Order: sequence, then C-alpha cells, then structure tokens
Amino acid sequence: MDLKEALVLRSLDYKDSSKILYLYTDEGLKSVIAHSVKKMNNVNRFLSQNGNLIKLSYSRGDFPSLKEGELVNDYPNVKKDLVSYTYMNHIMELIGNTIPKDSDHEKLYSFVKRLFLLFDQGIDSEVLSFIFELKLLYFLGYGLNFKECNICSNKEDLVFSIDNGGLVCSEHLSINQASYGPEVYINILKLYAIDINKTEIPVLENIDKTIVRHIIDVLYGDYVGYKTKSRGIIKQIQKY
Ligand SMILES: [Zn+2]
Repeated sequence: MDLKEALVLRSLDYKDSSKILYLYTDEGLKSVIAHSVKKMNNVNRFLSQNGNLIKLSYSRGDFPSLKEGELVNDYPNVKKDLVSYTYMNHIMELIGNTIPKDSDHEKLYSFVKRLFLLFDQGIDSEVLSFIFELKLLYFLGYGLNFKECNICSNKEDLVFSIDNGGLVCSEHLSINQASYGPEVYINILKLYAIDINKTEIPVLENIDKTIVRHIIDVLYGDYVGYKTKSRGIIKQIQKY
C-alpha cells in the first residue's frame, strides 16, 4: 500500500484510547483519527508525538482514520533540547494556524523538512526559526522590500521601518516611526533571502538575535496577528 509522508504538528486525545493527529503534508493540512493508539500494544503508539515525520495510510472520507503507519524521523536531538523543541513547536503552530489552504504546500513542506533536519544537526534553532518566520511572511503575502524606498524608490540613505514593511529613505520616515539602520537590517535581509539548501546558516550574536526577535514579533503583531503558545514559552525560557 502507498504510504503518504506527513509531519505530526500536534495530536489531541480523543475518547479513551484514541488520538486525533493534525498533520502537514505536501498537499496541505490533514487530520486523521488514530484509533486505540494510546493502548500499550498498539503498533502506532510511537507515531503521534508532535514533530515526528511519519508515513501513513488512512481511510477515505471526511474524517479518515489511520490504517498503517511508520516512523521516518523523530528528530531525537531536537526532542532532547527544550529550546530547540519549543522552536520546532512554534513553527508547527504557525503552520497549523496561518497557512491558507491554497498555498504552495509542496514548496513549504520540503522547506520545513530541510529546516527540521538542520534543527536535528544542532544548528541554532532560534536562527532557523527566524528564517522560517521571515519566509512565512513572504508566503502569507507580506513580503519585505529590501530593494529601495517603499515610497519613492530612492536607493540611498535607507533605513528599515516595520510600519512600511521594508526600507524607506530618510525623507519618507515619519518622526515617530521606529527604524533600524543597515547594521540591523542586514541580518534580517540575510535570513529573509537565504537558500537553506545552498548556504550555511549564519551565526548571530545574542544581542543581534534579541533585536531580530523583537522586529519579527512586531511584524507578526502588525501583519499576521497570530501569536503561538510556544512563543510565550520561549519568552519564559530566554527572557525575551
Ligand atoms: Zn523615499
């Protein structure tokens, strides 16, 4: 039987011994009931953990149930590291709650898979999460403009403005608008534009990470309007 690969975004207890698995695949989001999966002798018991990459077959219909399943990767190094695992969940919450149905899931799915492999190799999960969040903005239709002033197309004397979703020249920056110079926005641009299949993930100083985190949070507050539970947990762990 043909098995479909999927990422377990989260699972929810259902009745006494079953779970509902919320999955992301190259075709988009999918939920599947895993009957009796909580019983000790159930062969699919180990599949349902958040952040597992699995292969499965399921019945047809509006609310399909899991038939066969196997584990592809449980990212063991991520699961051992609280910060890394929380960032992974942060990304999965964003996928589950912000991705429109008609998105290019094939592209996003393969990007996320590559990203989680890098997570498991011990690359800084915070920086990887920045990359995801910045690219997700583009994906959701809020691409950032790093080419020229957003208003007059001037290419000199530019600063990054969150309100303008990109660069503006000094003439078009309002007095009360928060803005960031090249030393800050160069990091955002680098992460926003990176091809994670080809380029090594940049290393960021803690001070730079704090600023990038702040800018991304404000961008999400202004444009996406969705905040994950994991972001709250990260704040408790890292204090920013
Ligand atoms: Zn301008």
